[in-house]
Amino acid sequence: MDSNIILALDVEETDRALRIAEEVRGYVSAYKVGYPLILSEGAGVIDRVSKIGEVIVDIKIADIPEVSKSIAKTLTSHGASGIIVQGFVGRDVVKEVRKVAESLYVVAEMSHPGNADFITGQSEKIAIIAKEEGADGIVAPATHPERIKVLKRISGLKVLSPGVGAQGGSYKEALDSGADYLIIGRSIILSPDPKQKIKELLSQR
Ligand code: C5P
Repeated sequence: MDSNIILALDVEETDRALRIAEEVRGYVSAYKVGYPLILSEGAGVIDRVSKIGEVIVDIKIADIPEVSKSIAKTLTSHGASGIIVQGFVGRDVVKEVRKVAESLYVVAEMSHPGNADFITGQSEKIAIIAKEEGADGIVAPATHPERIKVLKRISGLKVLSPGVGAQGGSYKEALDSGADYLIIGRSIILSPDPKQKIKELLSQR
């Protein structure tokens, strides 16, 4: 099935992650694996999830360029087909990670209220850097759909948008604002019937 949902596998146990991933196989475009799972179970969990479907690793890499590249290389060797890097750390970091990531996504703006403390005001610049350094997409918040529109226009890149459901964002509004993929975790994972929840969301397209 053609799906624009990226499932955030924010759980701490491999068995649970694999069970959910299997359950919704074919109904999501990719699985997002982040700190909760990798820190609990080790990077080997990426290999295991990648046998079920495409994996985007989201540890929002934000180190110096050489270290960021090394981290991204290791994640790729474990089967990550996409890597998410923070944009606020600057162009040199994005450039280095680009060299080793199959697909690269740059966080332009975040979905939580604290984003306004530092990132608001810088995100347009981050979107331009993402485009100039050959990223495949940017991450922009469904909690502020108007920002999706602006950042997509500036970058001309695909937009991956978290914040639907648990954080208050709307699937439909994010889509209408130009999001290409919706990153969704809790509202699917914690649902009594994750596959049905995904079907309901997709029917709003
Ligand atoms: O459970 P929920 O749907 O809120 O999960 C959102 C996911 O998107 C989490 O994995 C979170 O780390 C991620 N994310 C986010 N805001 C960003 C980037 C990623 O919420 N700017």
